[in-house]
Amino acid sequence: MRRKHSTSFKKPEPLTLRKGALPFYRFSALEIPHAVFTRRGGVSEGPYATLNLSFEVGDDPERVKENRRRIKEGLACRYLVSAKQVHGAEVFLARGLEEDLEVEGYDALITDQPGVGLLIKQADCQALILYEPERKALGLIHAGWRGLVRGVIPRTIRALRESFGVSPERLRAFISPSLQPCCAEFRDWERLFPEEFARFRLPGNHFDLPAISRHLLLKEGLEPENIFVSRLCTRCREEFFSYRREKRSGRFGTLAYLP
Ligand SMILES: [Zn+2]
Repeated sequence: MRRKHSTSFKKPEPLTLRKGALPFYRFSALEIPHAVFTRRGGVSEGPYATLNLSFEVGDDPERVKENRRRIKEGLACRYLVSAKQVHGAEVFLARGLEEDLEVEGYDALITDQPGVGLLIKQADCQALILYEPERKALGLIHAGWRGLVRGVIPRTIRALRESFGVSPERLRAFISPSLQPCCAEFRDWERLFPEEFARFRLPGNHFDLPAISRHLLLKEGLEPENIFVSRLCTRCREEFFSYRREKRSGRFGTLAYLP
């Protein structure tokens, strides 16, 4: 039964890799400019080698600035909005921006302003891109298990509805590479997770976190065919930073903007 749930939406991998000096993945089904970067193509060294996008993990800030300049240029986006993420559920509305901005204490970013790149930094956590083509509204979410527990997904969808009048049945969701069931062991799950997550438990107390996200998106009214889930595991694949694999590590990024 559990097994069936985790595999019931198996589809071809929705991401394809763009090779080059600054390699990145993109979702074939998402037409707006976006990228899931890897750890390659930057200037950081040691545990942050090379495309670390976070100022908060002990890396040289000048290198992080250069890495951020490269992703902006690589994707031709005008402004970059990011957050000092806290594994919470607060949603930042980015509007009227005329320069780069890093806000504090948010884990979701939403906008309807063209050219404003929303950046999520991650090392095992999921980044979700939410896009509503009719209202031309965009949201990006940082969702690790804590964010899922704290409700960051429904909070962001409500914010998109209230701020931009998006309708969930037109919303499309794209879930980045993240910790997959192979590596997502939670021995303490009964204390950490709500009862609702128990059905996503696999043998050995492993959990299917992307399937939990998908379930939460469906609950908010998204259509199953509008949800695209990457099954690339950040801990298994060394092209990504992984907190579980390395502890001291950089953060890769998922970036998208409205054209
Ligand atoms: Zn894995």
